[in-house]
Amino acid sequence: MKLLRRRDTAQSGRPGKRDIPADLWTKCESCGQLLYNKALEESLKVCPKCDFHFPLPAAERLALTLDEGSFQEWETDLVSLDPLQFRGPTDYAEKLVEEQRACRMNDACLTGLGRLEGREVVIGVTDSRFMMGSMGSVVGERLTRAIERATEMRRPLIIISGSGGGARMQEGMLSLMQMAKTCNALMRFDEQGGVFISVLTHPTMAGVLASFATLGDVLVAEPKALIGFTGPRVIEQTIRQRLPEGFQRSEFLLEHGLIDLIVHRREMKTHLNKLLTLLCP
Ligand SMILES: [Zn+2]
Repeated sequence: MKLLRRRDTAQSGRPGKRDIPADLWTKCESCGQLLYNKALEESLKVCPKCDFHFPLPAAERLALTLDEGSFQEWETDLVSLDPLQFRGPTDYAEKLVEEQRACRMNDACLTGLGRLEGREVVIGVTDSRFMMGSMGSVVGERLTRAIERATEMRRPLIIISGSGGGARMQEGMLSLMQMAKTCNALMRFDEQGGVFISVLTHPTMAGVLASFATLGDVLVAEPKALIGFTGPRVIEQTIRQRLPEGFQRSEFLLEHGLIDLIVHRREMKTHLNKLLTLLCP
């Protein structure tokens, strides 16, 4: 491990502090293991030591899920305005531009039509890098239009959620409205006999979990994903009690009946295909 060097204590003032070149190594947030980035890419961003599934950018998620070259993106021109003229440490308008540049996306969600093992599916993916995958008016509108198109086209729907942010506070009530709007669209989809598979990835929290993400006919989660409404630290501080081991992780939620199955990333496409074969005769 020549790439890791111990900093001089006198220089840093912090004994044992290590400099880690960020482009070469990533520390697993679950087990703390240092992972060589190239090896992590090869393992589909799953920790080889503890099986923690790192969040994936939306484009990589689509590439793993759909048949090669089959994705046609919808609603590419929807962009958030700044309805509240939100001011903060970074103003919302400025933050949006920064995130758009960094993530190369208009907002935290991609939607469109693709094929999964030859079967046409409508798909939506939220990206937890873009403002923590939070749902503002663009995410809500894109998902709603995708659900409506799935209803009209009579195609199965898959939404893969990764959102640590829930509803986007910078758009206030307009963000909260997206929860009801997506749920309403899903209700109409369901009334028409539509099949919706919801895939929950690390992390899926708050307003996303409390709306469309838990309304799937089948709820599938990746291993060890944090899935909940309020984060465990806030709950512990509020109720002043220690939470049980593994609280809000996929395995805990499977045991308690919130989700239907846990699927490893490398087997996700196969499992989605099996589910679609069973549910869409
Ligand atoms: Zn790990």
